[in-house]
Amino acid sequence: MMYSSKTQLNAVIGYPLEHTLSPLLHNECYRRLKLNAVLLAFANGNCERLTDAIRTLGISLTAVTIPYKESVIPFLDGIDPVARRIGSVNTIIQRDGYLHGFNTDCIGIQKALQQETLSDTRALIIGAGGAARAAAWVLAEASASVWYYNRTPQRAQAIAKEFGGIVISNYELHQQAFDLIINATSVGLAPHHTQTPLPDFPFTNKHIVFDCVYSPLETRLLREAQSKGAHTISGIDMFLHQALEQIRLWSGRTLPFRPIRKFLITNGTPSQSV
Ligand code: NAP
Repeated sequence: MMYSSKTQLNAVIGYPLEHTLSPLLHNECYRRLKLNAVLLAFANGNCERLTDAIRTLGISLTAVTIPYKESVIPFLDGIDPVARRIGSVNTIIQRDGYLHGFNTDCIGIQKALQQETLSDTRALIIGAGGAARAAAWVLAEASASVWYYNRTPQRAQAIAKEFGGIVISNYELHQQAFDLIINATSVGLAPHHTQTPLPDFPFTNKHIVFDCVYSPLETRLLREAQSKGAHTISGIDMFLHQALEQIRLWSGRTLPFRPIRKFLITNGTPSQSV
């Protein structure tokens, strides 16, 4: 792609941003869609300054990552109702100087789980941050029965109160029969890839285990679940679906999932083998 004065500038904002896969993925998607655009990473410790820069530079699509998914909200002009309900924005679209916030993490989770029947599912969500809130919204929409477990139980209580469900202790984790287990913590994320949020868990071939973590591609949680016959889903599927939704919101264009997944796995996850 030859860049010119007509090239549209897009961004990913966060702090720090060394490991983000968004530039690799977005720029490959723009190339495949023949869009005259580029996405660059802007790391800064001040979220307000970053949103000022979005306005000043006319950045039309911004991917928002840790730690700004909640703190960016007061600096926006409008927010999509689903993002407001989840309390987290991972996408900003700028049109005519108006900054509108969206949450595509929930679409990423919905699509990563699209082969599963969620309505009669007994689901466990581990974690209580932004990813857990997006998962809680997806499961509430699907009328699943949900249990929550988090290192800080008060945060899990807050989600359970908002989205419905029951908070359980470490001990109770082993007493309940779950169909679906979602890790929405950063436990297992590289370089701490030897950790798992569920050590010694009695996985069976009846379990579906979905890890929001995608670096490494196959986390210890997924490896241990798979070795007992469980069906596992990597966070890379969520990551890809949420990014494709960002591009759709911005450009109205979509790409087939499988080829771009292959590209990302080949080029973007060096820490996948542990
Ligand atoms: P967050 O808001 O910072 O929440 C982090 C969660 O992890 C909290 O529940 C926290 O527990 C828990 N946690 C952190 N370190 C822990 C530890 N050592 N032991 C036990 N629990 C721990 O982060 P987030 O945005 O929800 O992201 C969570 C994970 O999802 C991250 O790994 C992120 O990379 C991943 N993610 C993936 C995608 C994707 O597209 N695949 C999208 C978004 C997020 P406390 O409440 O006790 O602090």
